Order: sequence, then structure tokens, then C-alpha cells
Amino acid sequence: MGQGLSCRVQDEHGLFTAVQFGDLEIVKTVLERDPSLIQQKTVYDRHSALHIAAANGQIEILSMLLENRSVNPDSLNRHKQTPLMLAAMHGKIACVEKLIQAGANILMFDSLNGRTCLHYAAYYGHSDCLQTILSSARTSHVASSWGFSRFVNIRGGKGETPLHLAARQRRPECVHILLDSGALVCASTGGHGLPGSTPLHLAARGGSMDCIRELLAWGADRLHRDATGRIPYAVALKHKNGACAALLNPSSAEPLVWPSPLKFISELNQDAKALLEQALMEVNKEREKAILKNTGYSMPSPSHSDTTAMDDNISEASDSQLCCICFDQLCAIEVQDCGHQMCAQCTLALCCHNKPNPTTLSLPAPICPFCRSNIARLTVVKVKVNTADQELDLYSSPKQRKSRKSMNLSEGSSSFRSLSAVPSFGKIVGRGSGRVSVDIEIDKP
Ligand SMILES: [Zn+2]
Ligand SMILES: [Zn+2]
Repeated sequence: MGQGLSCRVQDEHGLFTAVQFGDLEIVKTVLERDPSLIQQKTVYDRHSALHIAAANGQIEILSMLLENRSVNPDSLNRHKQTPLMLAAMHGKIACVEKLIQAGANILMFDSLNGRTCLHYAAYYGHSDCLQTILSSARTSHVASSWGFSRFVNIRGGKGETPLHLAARQRRPECVHILLDSGALVCASTGGHGLPGSTPLHLAARGGSMDCIRELLAWGADRLHRDATGRIPYAVALKHKNGACAALLNPSSAEPLVWPSPLKFISELNQDAKALLEQALMEVNKEREKAILKNTGYSMPSPSHSDTTAMDDNISEASDSQLCCICFDQLCAIEVQDCGHQMCAQCTLALCCHNKPNPTTLSLPAPICPFCRSNIARLTVVKVKVNTADQELDLYSSPKQRKSRKSMNLSEGSSSFRSLSAVPSFGKIVGRGSGRVSVDIEIDKP
């Protein structure tokens, strides 16, 4: 028996090493020689070959192992961790996807801290894995049996939600995704960190300005007290996160809060949402600068590529018109059904003029500032007009023509633009091509 065991241990060792380093041929050879080895686990940690493949991102071997029907995608190691948890911990997105496809259960809890794969992805800041697990939760049995929002706010052994962990570990992207998926910004922990801590307390401790900015923009309460009576401001001071403390100081200016309770905000399409979220962050960063200047802190080094993204938006919208409210930004958002346009920042100012009442979450519904009609939808201003539309434009009614012109026809219609009666504030690319007859035609009543 001793002989057999030592021989087997040697084989296992060969197998696990080959899995770790992704040597598919050796893995195949070893398993052909002894198919039962596929069920073997390492002696101490009780890792299966699947755990090792997942943790090391060996997607080929992982896929090969999962083809074997006797392999359980949810096999457990010594700490009751599944291969999916290890893949989420190490940010091996391909393995996360494959395991979920193969039916891995996203609702398993380890025995270390009672945490799920979603906690792992949030803690280690792998936003792609986090996103994949969340999309799976939206569509899988979890949504019907548990409910999606319950899953997003799933608690570990000490009451910590994935949002608590992401905030504590300085993972702003994960914080954003979780909040956007319905994570409760004011949830307090049972025993994780200091009891009664909210994500904002933990972000104050972690010292990430980006996390704090996200949380505040989603309505985190600066006055919430943990079990020892401390507000996040006191936590930041204690951990010597001075710049964070300045933002968390209840006496400094309040940031704009994303107006999520508004119906048309919750129904925004992706483009409009991205544009408005970006504008919100820009406005809040400007406020931060003012706060930090007064307190003698300088703005921490830019950790975001926000500025480049913003530049893209501007050049994209460069054919549209200057906002008639601020005369500073270009119109980017159109109010429907009336069709009035304004810039993203003015749209936000309209929607965020006061914080939602924390108990009722009710906001007075804003109306169009131009015509006072109700806002059914907000969309991104479209500036691209194809050739067929331009042709059509020549024959449309004067009223329609006027409204079209006020959008400053773009691309390929440079002759229209150069002689257009509407002053163009945007960057003018290209000039008239001499098709004057057309322009005269169009300017006639
Ligand atoms: Zn404006
Ligand atoms: Zn209107």
C-alpha cells in the first residue's frame, strides 16, 4: 500500500504542477494513464486540478477538465472555496466565464469568512469578473430564487457586502459597478471592521478619494454613525487621510447626488447615462478642488482617464450648438418629447437641485426649463445626418427646416453650415465648398 501511495503522490505532483504551468499535453498523458487522478486533491489545501487551473488562469486545461462529466465545477477545497472563487480572486476572467457557463454556482459561501465569489471579485478589484458574475446573477436561477438585488447586497459572515469590501480596498471601479447594480450605499456591517460601518466609513479608512467620490455621488450620508458613534469624517482623520477628511467634513460643500429616484433617469439609455454620469463626476471634482484648496490639500494625482473621455465627448458633439442656459458647454442632451436641448451639466443641475429625501427617496420631478412640459425621456443629441436626410431637408417645411438648421447640419454638409443663419459656436471643421445655389435656396423662406 505504501508503494501504491507514494507512486500516486508522485503522479499527483506531476499532474498539479502541469496544471499550474498550463502544460496541456502532460495533463492529458497523466490523466490517460490514470483517469481517477482527475478526482484527486492536494494533500493540505484540498485543491482539485480545477482549483489550480482556475487560480492560474489555465483556460485550456480548465475547459478540458470541465468536459469530463465526473468533474464537479463546484468542488470545494479546505476552506470551502470553489474554483469560481479562486478565479474571481485572481482576476482570471476567461476562467470565470467558462466556469459559469459550465454551471458553477455563484451562490456558494466559503468557510473562511462566509464570502461568495462576488465578495472575492470586489475585494480584489477585478471589475470584469464582478461584471460577469452580476450578469450571470441577472439571468440565472439566482435572480428568481434569491432576487438580483438581494444577491448584489449579499452579506459575508460578518455582515460585509461586496460594496463594503470594494470601498475598503480602494476599488472605485467595483464600487461604481456595484452601486449602479443596486448595492445599498448606506448598508452597515454587523461585525466587519468596526460594527455599524457603512461603505463610506470603510472608504474613509481605506483613503481612496475615488471611492469616496463615487459613494457621495450615490447619496452616501456623511452623518451616518457607526456603533462607536463615529462619522466617516472622524474615521478619515484617525487614519490620517486628510484629503478624504476634507471631503467628508459635514461642513464642506455637498456634492451633487445622482438623481436615481427620477423615472427618466432610471430609464436612460447607455449613452445618455454615461454622458450624465461623467458630467456629475466633473462637477463634483470641481467642488472638490475648491474644498481642498481651502483646506490646503492639493488634488491627488489624477487616477482617471476622465479628462480624455470628456475631450472625446466634446469633439463628438462639436457640431452641436452651445447650451442656451450656461452659454459655456455644448448641447449634448435632448429633452423628449418637446425636443429642447441643453448641455449635460445643466441637465444635471436641473435634476439634482436638491438631494432626495432619504426617508421617502422622493424628488420633485423637474420639467423642461424652456417650455415647462414634463420630461418623458432624455437622449443624447444626435448630430450625424445622412445624405438622404439632407436631400429631404431641402423639401421639408420651413418649420422643420429651421429646427434642423438649429442643429447645425454636420458631416458633408459644410456648405450648409458655412452660410447658415445660425451662428455656429462649435468647432467648425471644413468650409463651404462653393455650392452657393443650394445655400441660397435653403435660406429663402
Ligand atoms: Zn449648459
Ligand atoms: Zn421643452
